[in-house]
Amino acid sequence: MMQAGFFTGTDLRTITKAALLAERLTQRHFDLSEDEWKRNPYGVFTRREVDESLHEAEAFAHVVVLKNMTHSPAGRKGREKYGIVLQDPNILLALLRSSFHDLWTLGLFILTHELVHIIRFRKYGADFFACVQERDKEENLVHDITREILSGVTNTDYLLKLYDSQLTLLREKSTYIGLHGGA
Ligand SMILES: [Zn+2]
Repeated sequence: MMQAGFFTGTDLRTITKAALLAERLTQRHFDLSEDEWKRNPYGVFTRREVDESLHEAEAFAHVVVLKNMTHSPAGRKGREKYGIVLQDPNILLALLRSSFHDLWTLGLFILTHELVHIIRFRKYGADFFACVQERDKEENLVHDITREILSGVTNTDYLLKLYDSQLTLLREKSTYIGLHGGA
C-alpha cells in the first residue's frame, strides 16, 4: 500500500488557517453569532494524536464526541464537546493521486463539511447514533450544504471531482469516546 506520511508542521498551519475560514463560512451560512465557535470550541486531532481505534482506512475525517469525565461531578452529565479527527495519511494520499497538490483547498472542504456536521448535531437535531439509512441521508444533506457554502469561495469543480473519485472517503463514521482529562 502506498504510504503518504503524516501532516508536517507546515501542513498543520495550513489546516489551522483552513479551519478559521471554515468557521467563518459556516457561521455566516447558518446565521450563528460571531463568537459561536469560541463559545463552543471543538478539537482537531490528527491520526498520531488519537488511539488506534479511531484510525480509519477509508475516511478523510470524522466527528467524535468528547466526554470530559474528569470535571463532571457524580450524577451530572459531563459536558460534551465535539472533535474532528483528521486521517492525515488518507488526505495526503488523495492529494498525491490528484492532478494538483492543494491541501488548503481540500482541507477547507473537509473542515467545512465536518463543521456542518457538528452544527447539524448540535442545533438541528441530527442524530449522532443514526442508523445507516438516516446517516446516508444526513451525509448527502451535509455534502449539499458544504457545496453551497463553498461555491464561489474556492475551486469547487476540483473538489467535486475529488469527491466523486474518493466518495467513500467522505462518508465517515461517527464515534463516541470518553476522554479523561481537560479535553
Ligand atoms: Zn460527512
